[in-house]
Amino acid sequence: MIDLRSDTVTRPSTAMREAMLAAPVGDDVWGDDPTVNAFQQHLAKRAGKQAALLFPSGTQSNLVALMAHCERGDEYIVGQNAHTYRYEGGGAAVLGSIQPQPIENAPDGTLPLEKITAAIKADDPHFARTRLLALENTIAGKVLPAGYIDDAVALARQRGLATHLDGARLFNAMVATGTTLEAMCQPFDSVSLCFSKGLGAPIGSALVGSHAFIDKARRWRKVVGGGMRQAGIIAAACQYALEHHVADLEKDHRRAARLGEGLSALPGITVTSQATNMVFAEVEHAHVAPLAAWLKEHDILLDLVYATRFVVHRDIDDADIERVIEVMQAYFKR
Ligand SMILES: *Cc1c(COP(=O)(O)O)cnc(C)c1O
Repeated sequence: MIDLRSDTVTRPSTAMREAMLAAPVGDDVWGDDPTVNAFQQHLAKRAGKQAALLFPSGTQSNLVALMAHCERGDEYIVGQNAHTYRYEGGGAAVLGSIQPQPIENAPDGTLPLEKITAAIKADDPHFARTRLLALENTIAGKVLPAGYIDDAVALARQRGLATHLDGARLFNAMVATGTTLEAMCQPFDSVSLCFSKGLGAPIGSALVGSHAFIDKARRWRKVVGGGMRQAGIIAAACQYALEHHVADLEKDHRRAARLGEGLSALPGITVTSQATNMVFAEVEHAHVAPLAAWLKEHDILLDLVYATRFVVHRDIDDADIERVIEVMQAYFKR
């Protein structure tokens, strides 16, 4: 099976499993797990923040970040297409009593500054209190321009807003731009990072920020049921991914570019964007169902809809990419 549905489908390698097996563990709710503690310290240092906190998922890491930044009755400004707003079950509102203020994302994934400005509420009891600006990088595979981030964060600061980055795929942005994790995290008060997307860990996300912020987040993590016990097994996988898999993301980007090029040459399909490890394409309506059946027959897994996303990850190699292009070509040649 060649599975292009998401970069979450990777399986932990033997070496990663060995690192998990060898990890010394303790009860992390008591702060006793040496592997969790070492991972959190290492990650915080690498991100240039005071502290880090391990989570079972990115959804929980983002939710807890929003809850640590905002009180009941506050709101956060977020993109209409942002994961925290669109794909996390409305958790900020449902569980955090935080009102989202969504803004239409520009095609490059940014939130236009004038729209952010217009969305910030005056201090008036009619309004929720605007407390936080949340961005996402990468978004739909696209890297936010560094200059844009600086401007958006400066605007937020000037208006007294905190800033959070959903960096589920920030390592992709880092590798694509050749910068450091510290530089990518520096503008933001808090950043959420995922190790189960593209980096091969079976589970694991982390939040980075100041000591005071992470202390608050630790309370909320317990409240939402994210306090884990011998979590060193998970931290070991994340640490392994951090040390051994980050540089490999470059291969995913190269392969996605090759896939985008191959797909562009086909009739009946329009590549609408290719960035980092993702290709987005529109498939002519009449081809959607038969092409989906054809791909399935040829052991290619893809969530084929009108606007389709092809996601490249570490369990896809060069031969797999060529195979996908060939199978697609064969379909359109019939
Ligand atoms: C997947 C994803 C998340 C959530 O991660 P889970 O670990 O699946 O809960 C958050 N943000 C973005 C941008 C994502 O792609």
